[in-house]
Formats: sequence, C-alpha cells, structure tokens
Amino acid sequence: MADPGKTANFGYRKVPFAERQARVNEVFDSVARRYDLMNDLISLGSHRLVKRFTLQLSGLRPGHAVLDLAGGTGDMAMRLAPLTGPDGKVVLADINADMLRIARDRIIDRGLASSIDIVQLNGEQLPFAENSFDCVCIAYGLRNITDQPEALAAMNRVLKPGGRVLVLEFSRVNHPVLRGAYDAWSALWPAVGKLVTGDSSSYRYLVESIRVHPDQETLLAMLGEAGFEQCRYHNVIDGVCAIHVGYKPATTSLTRSPFRS
Ligand code: SAM
Repeated sequence: MADPGKTANFGYRKVPFAERQARVNEVFDSVARRYDLMNDLISLGSHRLVKRFTLQLSGLRPGHAVLDLAGGTGDMAMRLAPLTGPDGKVVLADINADMLRIARDRIIDRGLASSIDIVQLNGEQLPFAENSFDCVCIAYGLRNITDQPEALAAMNRVLKPGGRVLVLEFSRVNHPVLRGAYDAWSALWPAVGKLVTGDSSSYRYLVESIRVHPDQETLLAMLGEAGFEQCRYHNVIDGVCAIHVGYKPATTSLTRSPFRS
C-alpha cells in the first residue's frame, strides 16, 4: 500500500500522492472543450512547430507502431498516423475521458479512425505486452503524471528493443532576458484562461506545474534511471520546451566482432 504520508507537487502545493491524479483530472475535465484553442493562444501557435520537430526526431517509418501517451485531444496522434501509414498503428492513450471524447470526434472527422486506436489508461501502468512499440511519444504529458519514474519505466517496458522514447515538455529557459519575458507572458495565462474558458485556476496549475517540473538535466538523468540509453535532449526556443530522446537497449549485442577469428 502507498505510504499515506507521501506527497506530490500539484503546482506549488503539496497534496497527498494518492489524491494528485484526481486533481489533475479535474483540470483536464474543465479545459477539454477549449483545450486546442487555448494551446494555440498561449503558445502563440508555436506548439505546432515544436510538435513538427518532435516528429522529425521520431524515426518512424511505414508499418511502425507508436504509442502517443497522455495524447489528450489527439493532436500528436493525428500527426503520427501519416508516418506509420496504413500498415502501421498509432495508439492514443490518456487517462481523461473528456479529452479522449474530443480526440475521437476529431479523428473520425479526419478519416483516421482505422489508423488510430484510442485507449483510456493511467500512464503509470501500461496494459500492453512488453516490446510492443517502435516509439513511445509523450507530449506535454509527463508533467501531469504523478509517479513519473514509474511511467518512464512502463514506457521502457512496452518499447521494442532499440525502440525510442520522445518526451516533449516545457523546460528551463536558458537566457535570463528570454526567461523574464516568458515568465511575464506565462503569468498572464490564468487571465487568458478565465476569458476564454471561464476557468483561471486550471491555467494557474499549468504555469505552476511548468515551474516545478524537472529541468533538462534532471529529466535526462530520470530517463537513464528508467533504463533508457543514448539519452539526449534538444532545447526548443532556448529551453521553453525540451525534447528528450532515449532508446531501450537492444537485447542482442555483439560482444565479439564476427570478423575476428
Ligand atoms: N499530448 C497532448 C498534446 O500535446 O496536446 C495533450 C497534453 S495535455 C497538456 C496532458 C494530458 O495528460 C491530458 O490529456 C491528461 O488527461 C493526460 N494525463 C494526465 N495524467 C495522466 C496519466 N496518469 N496517464 C495518462 N494520461 C494522463
């Protein structure tokens, strides 16, 4: 049983570990309907470019299987489907039924229903067989998961040997001037959220959760601890976002060169 005294960050607040997921779910219940519009507004459209760059790092080819974890309203899954093609598979997985309902409608409207499976799950316990996916992608999702080491270990388990994990998240801005400007802009998000969705507290959680999220180097170490190798990251917009990449070790390694006698 989980330690009843254990706490987790919910934005700047510490809440009981076992209660945090329910609070995160309330946030996404509240924002689901306007999620995509708000994404465009607060990122000034830049999330589209960042996602495009993430796809370029995926190494996906026709026939591959990819898991879009914490995939929300399906934005990333719909971008992944053309890469894996008719012989491949995209699995869109998220814990929140409201976000997935919007994803389902968008996926059907775009004629992609046969390429994308939708699964409701908690990313901490992935109900897939070991070695199922060529790639696991999690975009702006890890920050919202309570037990992040557990989720990273689960991603490692379901990847095929040599498979790739991509973690796209908000991160730490390097340059102090850009950091100041970004902090000032993000401080306005609760007000923008209030105006567009009538809900400011969800966007306060967003701002706070970004500020308490592990920075680039900390997340890099977490990937290594979860069993990934050759881990690296790419800063985007000087660290507003970072894309971490890691690989599940291949099971068969040549310890001796086949060319040596
Ligand atoms: N990936 C999408 C995108 O890039 O637009 C959605 C990102 S949204 C900021 C975060 C998503 O994480 C929400 O849809 C939320 O329901 C989901 N989430 C939060 N906790 C989760 C968990 N434990 N397991 C799976 N999904 C989770």
